[in-house]
Amino acid sequence: MAKSMKCSDVGVACDFEARAENEAELMKKLAEHARTAHGFKDIPPELVAKVKAAIRDVK
Ligand SMILES: [Zn+2]
Repeated sequence: MAKSMKCSDVGVACDFEARAENEAELMKKLAEHARTAHGFKDIPPELVAKVKAAIRDVK
C-alpha cells in the first residue's frame, strides 16, 4: 500500500508531502528532503520515530 507523510505532521513548518509505494521508499525520499531542505546530514533517531508514527496509508 502506498504511504505518505508531511513535514507539518511532525511539527516542521514546511508544506512538503512525500509519497511512495512503501515505507522504505518513503523514508528514502524523506531523508533526501531532510538533507536538501532542512540541512540534516542524518535524520536523528528520535525524528525517525516521529516520522514513522506520522506515516499514513494512501487510499
Ligand atoms: Zn520539509
